[in-house]
Amino acid sequence: MKTQVTIIGGGIVGLATAWRLAEAHRDLVITVLEKENDVAAHQTGHNSGVIHSGIYYRPGSLRAMNCRDGYVALLEFCQKYDIAHDICGKVIVATREWERSQLDKIMDHGRENGLQGIRRISAEEVQEREPHVQAVEGIWVPQTGIIDYVQVTQTYARLIQERGHQIKFGFQVKAMTRHRKRWRIFSLAGDVVEGELVINCAGLFADKVVQMTGQNLGGVQIIPFRGEYYNVVHEKEHLVNNLIYPVPNPAFPFLGVHYTRMIHGGIEAGPSAVLAFAREGYSRYQVNAVELLETITHRGFLRMARKHWRFGWDEMVRSFSKKAFVTALQHLIPEIGMQDLVRGGAGVRAMACSIHGELLDDFLILETEGVINVVNAPSPAATASLAIGQTIAKAATRQLTA
Ligand SMILES: Cc1cc2nc3c(=O)[nH]c(=O)nc-3n(C[C@H](O)[C@H](O)[C@H](O)COP(=O)(O)OP(=O)(O)OC[C@H]3O[C@@H](n4cnc5c(N)ncnc54)[C@H](O)[C@@H]3O)c2cc1C
Repeated sequence: MKTQVTIIGGGIVGLATAWRLAEAHRDLVITVLEKENDVAAHQTGHNSGVIHSGIYYRPGSLRAMNCRDGYVALLEFCQKYDIAHDICGKVIVATREWERSQLDKIMDHGRENGLQGIRRISAEEVQEREPHVQAVEGIWVPQTGIIDYVQVTQTYARLIQERGHQIKFGFQVKAMTRHRKRWRIFSLAGDVVEGELVINCAGLFADKVVQMTGQNLGGVQIIPFRGEYYNVVHEKEHLVNNLIYPVPNPAFPFLGVHYTRMIHGGIEAGPSAVLAFAREGYSRYQVNAVELLETITHRGFLRMARKHWRFGWDEMVRSFSKKAFVTALQHLIPEIGMQDLVRGGAGVRAMACSIHGELLDDFLILETEGVINVVNAPSPAATASLAIGQTIAKAATRQLTA
């Protein structure tokens, strides 16, 4: 009988993992369980569509290594399967004198992460590349690009289905039991799937699925942070050529609101990073009382909120006040006005928060016998999906051949 592997979550990480496993083994039966009726319904389908270069991440971290390897693998994959993408490069700009020292640190990380061709550029060169930006200095990152991650995920899905593997849509995993090294996985609707190995790629619900596998995360909990976008109106799209990023606040794993040219046309501005009142809370008014209570009573969240209340407050203000959002964007392009932006979509980031009040900075993949849990896969996990998938496929192979 063939070995059965079950992957929970039909986002980019779950499906890249399925594809890497399908490539490596002919003798597996892979089943992906997805609660929605399509792939990429959550983080993957609501992201900025940027192919990250890896310039920001701490050298030696899983984010840095998987971004580097995933970047190369993603571009090869796109060429092979004819997926539109554009390596247009980006500028990171310091708009205030005191931000220059941050540029030094970003350059150091970029060099240590092996990025070729990144360089400091003067205010004049920033303006040659992005004529409407007011900066004191910048960094040019030639590797950064744009892509449609839904299309990438749909391609992984098509490839695994062509190899005879299955994606079960509308299967919301509710509980799991294990007997004689075999899992029984139950859906909310009462269906059952069995398998030897379970891989949890449930994104915003990764911690809940960990609990179902009987593991203890030591108080780590997913905190949902919504990223809201505005669209630049068509008549003002000329204000942005490609990708314009501010210097990020090093205290947080967010990049700050930026301008992004989209692969299918149009310019987005954002995303913010505001606490969501539901794990899938895409609007300001969407509240899930149980999930909100779990968030605001989590000891780690409370510690973080006490320490960073000012950041949280500013983000909340930006969520409700367009004027405050526009002011943040005017730091990069002073001539952008209220009338040049219309509310766009939103995405919710799954950020794992420790009991000590820190958002985990790195990817976190935990492995025990019979289970691999992807606990934390924030940005750049879309860029890095094939590398993360490869890492998990190797761990799965070790378990299946032990
Ligand atoms: C606003 C925003 C902007 C971003 N920008 C970028 C970017 O430009 N570049 C980049 O590289 N990364 C970016 N990221 C990060 C990237 O999108 C995510 O890291 C990545 O999509 C995570 O993929 P995933 O498969 O782990 O999660 P998801 O895409 O969230 O997939 C998880 C899946 O699991 C399913 N699921 C959950 N619970 C269950 C259950 N109980 N039973 C069955 N199914 C379940 C969900 O329905 C979902 O489809 C961004 C993220 C956000 C939110």
